[in-house]
Amino acid sequence: MRADEAVLAYGGGWLDRAGELRADPERIAALMADPGSVVLPFWRDRCLVADDVPVRLTGDLAAGVLAVADETAFLGMGDDRSAVFAVDLSGLSEAAAVEAAGAGAAVDVRALVGRLGPAEAAVQAYARGLLHWHRQQRFCGACGASTVARGGGHVRSCTGADCGRLLFPRIEPAVIVLVEAPGAPDRCLLARHAGAREGAYSTLAGFVEVGESLEDAVRREMAEEAGVTVTDLTYVGSQAWPFPAGLMVGFRATAASEEVRVDGEELLEARWFTRDELRERVAAGRPLGRVDSIDHHLLQSWLAAGA
Ligand SMILES: [Zn+2]
Repeated sequence: MRADEAVLAYGGGWLDRAGELRADPERIAALMADPGSVVLPFWRDRCLVADDVPVRLTGDLAAGVLAVADETAFLGMGDDRSAVFAVDLSGLSEAAAVEAAGAGAAVDVRALVGRLGPAEAAVQAYARGLLHWHRQQRFCGACGASTVARGGGHVRSCTGADCGRLLFPRIEPAVIVLVEAPGAPDRCLLARHAGAREGAYSTLAGFVEVGESLEDAVRREMAEEAGVTVTDLTYVGSQAWPFPAGLMVGFRATAASEEVRVDGEELLEARWFTRDELRERVAAGRPLGRVDSIDHHLLQSWLAAGA
């Protein structure tokens, strides 16, 4: 793993996903019954925590939540070769879910990320995204029949007699782009998004549409949102963003001209910033995006690349 890949939150999980075991329901059942297996309980996208640390249940507590879970998914094998499962307790009240897990509260992993190690944040986000998908995919979109989990919780199968379609977890890719100005001095394009707090600027981003490559999406989004034609696309890195189903794909690109024209809907304003201007903003207490975001990473790495 390269150093710049390790810094992005929600990636680099410590689990061996052990995908080969998903097709072996007897083995999965045996691992679920093993008192050494680890269970990570969730309630409606939130992990259950004790003293702000996500609980990891084993033994009787694990068996107890497995018995009342709406859904269980096999996440993989930990460093110590114990199996790790995510369980969804969303069918219970929040208080009942917290109590069943012997926890203290239900908290979104994004609220904890500064206090979790990267690997722990990654596995919590993985579990959150997978369980969220199960709750959204209870029925078949083709025939309307109910679906049931298979494959250790990594596929759902339609129960419709003439259908039987297999449904896989959905990931929604988005591109996020640090656009540089043509010529000197080095400047990057940041925008104020509708709904963002006053004075908050970030890089430009948008969802990839059907029938588009990532590069097509970069060119279209930059043109639509900011009226900028971009060239020299360079891939920077990607970030799992399962909140609920994103995959952020980061690029740098160069604008053909300095002219900017925002759409006034998604973007209220876009302008060029030098590195010194960004450093002054940081010094004045205005952070560059959420600390766990690829937006932050794109800006920090751009700052680090220049004098
Ligand atoms: Zn169906």
